[in-house]
Amino acid sequence: MGKRSEPQRITLDGRILVVVTPEEHEHLQASRRQLGAMQAQRRTLATQVERLRSLLTEVAELIEHMPHPPECTRDEIPAGPSPCQVCRLSDALGKPAD
Ligand SMILES: [Zn+2]
Repeated sequence: MGKRSEPQRITLDGRILVVVTPEEHEHLQASRRQLGAMQAQRRTLATQVERLRSLLTEVAELIEHMPHPPECTRDEIPAGPSPCQVCRLSDALGKPAD
């Protein structure tokens, strides 16, 4: 349905009605069903994102309290790469390690 023409209107019992063909009506119904399915999918994804955010916050908090091994160089070279797994996990989560 590429062309967009003004739909035909009729007046019935004093009310203005828009006339659509059965095919157009079926197309509108299909679009409505598709939109409903997409909205349900969007709600599911939003819930999953919220759960993941909360899980990541929890993991970041746990990592923040993990001890760094003696070979950790973060204190000497804060911006440099560290072989420490705790620093690497913390960097991956976007929070600087203490
Ligand atoms: Zn470290």
